Amino acid sequence: MCNRCSGIALGYCECAPITSVVRSGCPAFVQLLFELLPVGFAQNKSRKRSSLAPELGRFFRVTGGVQNFGPMEPPIKIPVGFYVIHHPKGNVLFDTGNNDKIITDPSYWGPNFKAIMPVNTPDVAIDVQLKKIGMTPDDIKYVVVSHMHLDHGGNVAKFPNSTLVIQRDEINMAFFPPEPFAGPYIPGDAYALRAATGSSKPNAMKMVILEKQDMDIFGDGSVIVKNWQGHTAGSQMLLVRLPKSGPTILTGDNVYFRENVEKSLPPNLVLAYNPSGIMRAYEWIRYMMATEKADFFTAHDPDAFKAMKKAPEYYE
Ligand SMILES: [Zn+2]
Repeated sequence: MCNRCSGIALGYCECAPITSVVRSGCPAFVQLLFELLPVGFAQNKSRKRSSLAPELGRFFRVTGGVQNFGPMEPPIKIPVGFYVIHHPKGNVLFDTGNNDKIITDPSYWGPNFKAIMPVNTPDVAIDVQLKKIGMTPDDIKYVVVSHMHLDHGGNVAKFPNSTLVIQRDEINMAFFPPEPFAGPYIPGDAYALRAATGSSKPNAMKMVILEKQDMDIFGDGSVIVKNWQGHTAGSQMLLVRLPKSGPTILTGDNVYFRENVEKSLPPNLVLAYNPSGIMRAYEWIRYMMATEKADFFTAHDPDAFKAMKKAPEYYE
């Protein structure tokens, strides 16, 4: 029996007990994988095929500005983050990035492709990103989506052997979003969740469909899905209790930038389904920071991204 993992250890140690409190020596825990998503209409001539860091613009201090699907001159480049959490009982993927179909078929995104100019070189494919940490999609036990917008739920279909954890409200949004929220939901991404035509079962993959609920994935308090309506009707955040780094909140798009939380600045509200839910998310994160020394990671903050460890590095 391994004594090196804590009771909430998230690691490769296959024998990690759930009662030990010694916390050193376990390898990889949370790893950030990513794509790049320039935002704005103007042509970004500075795209690099294998860039590992976003080219920072001057605009990340214009809180909420990068995700309004509106013109931005000059365009800036933002990361599209997704995370792998290692747990003795299985790996969890939080978000899946842009659908890799746009690498070969940009028309899959319709006018969104021209509007936000995603980097679509082969190196951003989720399989390639997972390979950085020696994984294939089949190594992922649970896929948790913060929401089903095109840059988060794009690749759920690449994990047919995983279990998808999603809110019922988000499924409804993905399949038939109310105006004016339809734009970032790609019908093909949602349709991939349906079983083949004529099947008596609706789901194409194993799914845990939550009814406005949280979920303690492994039952040990280490990886908790938080139901948090805000950015979308069925948005989820993930609370990961790391043995060394402590509680870490993966916010999805309920938070765009660190300063949203730190200064309580509302985001651009064009895409916000429930603005007060977003503000309550900020408040909860600040509460967790104050009471449990928690930290948080967003999906698209270029400034925070620059400072973060990127796979194959990890947080313990
Ligand atoms: Zn996003």
